Amino acid sequence: MSELRECPFCGKEACYVDKDGNAVSDPSPDIACARTACMPPTSYVPADTWQSRPLEDTLRAELERVKAENEWIPTEEKYPELEEDVYVTNGIFYGVSGLYKDNNTGTFEWECNFEPTHWKPITLLPAAPEEGE
Ligand SMILES: [Zn+2]
Repeated sequence: MSELRECPFCGKEACYVDKDGNAVSDPSPDIACARTACMPPTSYVPADTWQSRPLEDTLRAELERVKAENEWIPTEEKYPELEEDVYVTNGIFYGVSGLYKDNNTGTFEWECNFEPTHWKPITLLPAAPEEGE
């Protein structure tokens, strides 16, 4: 079995236990929180149940996706696709802008009236308000 997941109640280390609730070093069918203050020694959980957390896994994946979606990308690292509107900021001003290449000079120019230091894709627009909202 893979590494033991943390305790779902306190987030601390878990351990394998024998039927009497004593911590054992070898994998056993039961797992408990290593903190006896968190779970009484005899309240162990079957390993399959302890390790399986579909709702938690789904929520963690969704959280990672949303975090990644909301990361500002430094313009020093990467530019967006040309002529695609993106959110931009320089830490003081925020806006929506596209990046364009000046074919005469070969330089890149933003459409906004400040020099963005960061940008992120426009991925999520809120739903339009309902009538009467
Ligand atoms: Zn715990």
